[in-house]
Amino acid sequence: NQNYAGKIAFVTGAANGIGRTTAIAFAEAGAHVAVVDLNGDGVAEVVAAIEAAGGSAVGITCDVSKSEDVRTALDKTVEAFGGIDIAFNNAGIEQQQIPLADLSEEDFDRMTAIDLRGVFLCMKYQIPLMQKRGGGAIVNTSSGAGVVGIAGQAGYVAVKHGVIGMSKSAALEYIGDNVRVNVICPGIIETPMITDRVSGGTEEGQKKMIAQEPIGRMGKPEEIAAAVLYICSDSAAFMVGHAMVVDGGQTVG
Ligand code: NAD
Repeated sequence: NQNYAGKIAFVTGAANGIGRTTAIAFAEAGAHVAVVDLNGDGVAEVVAAIEAAGGSAVGITCDVSKSEDVRTALDKTVEAFGGIDIAFNNAGIEQQQIPLADLSEEDFDRMTAIDLRGVFLCMKYQIPLMQKRGGGAIVNTSSGAGVVGIAGQAGYVAVKHGVIGMSKSAALEYIGDNVRVNVICPGIIETPMITDRVSGGTEEGQKKMIAQEPIGRMGKPEEIAAAVLYICSDSAAFMVGHAMVVDGGQTVG
């Protein structure tokens, strides 16, 4: 693990899955962590886990698609810890497997609001705080769906491609202020999104997910957290506007 002693990390979608594991990893590496999620009970559980292990965290219930929620969450983080050095904008929802013409306008708009607008709002209000501190590192969560087309996933593919494009633009706009923006593109990761929902919660569903992975298994949230901690560290100081794919080979062929 990298050393994040004294750093302040803001993690969204932190009540579950990839966000939860990454928030805990940042705390274990010494960071003060803002645990941000729509699910208030989940937030409280993660904060308790971090504190029980001797770490430092503040829990914030927030809907990332709402501007006021995002601004309040950042205010609370500044109040608690004095600023923000790192942001992992990771909150997101999935799409049902469904062709474009059958995808409802409501579902498309909801996905756009959370997975794309949510990342926009977070960056919009994080960047000025980072500029004030002389720099920072942002990682936004895209997906394998951000780099290839997938039948049945047109809406999700659209927003996840959008996350990469927006991040590349922001990376160019703010690297002069020492704010590094990058992206993580996970493959199929063993989280509630996959094991409870996308797979239908069945053993057969899990097997179908694994069949999409050349490596022959799902990824672990820890394998994404490790990449995020690397990208945010000084070891990756020269990495700017990069979309790092960590996917067991899913999008290689
Ligand atoms: P998850 O469903 O296990 O966790 C997502 C968390 O985001 C939940 O705690 C949920 O409450 C929170 N959330 C949802 N909507 C929110 C909102 N409006 N505001 C704040 N928080 C909200 O999912 P995960 O698998 O950990 O996914 C995390 C991210 O990784 C998502 O952006 C997802 O699209 C992406 N991703 C996941 C996989 C995978 O295989 N699991 C693959 C590629 C990309």
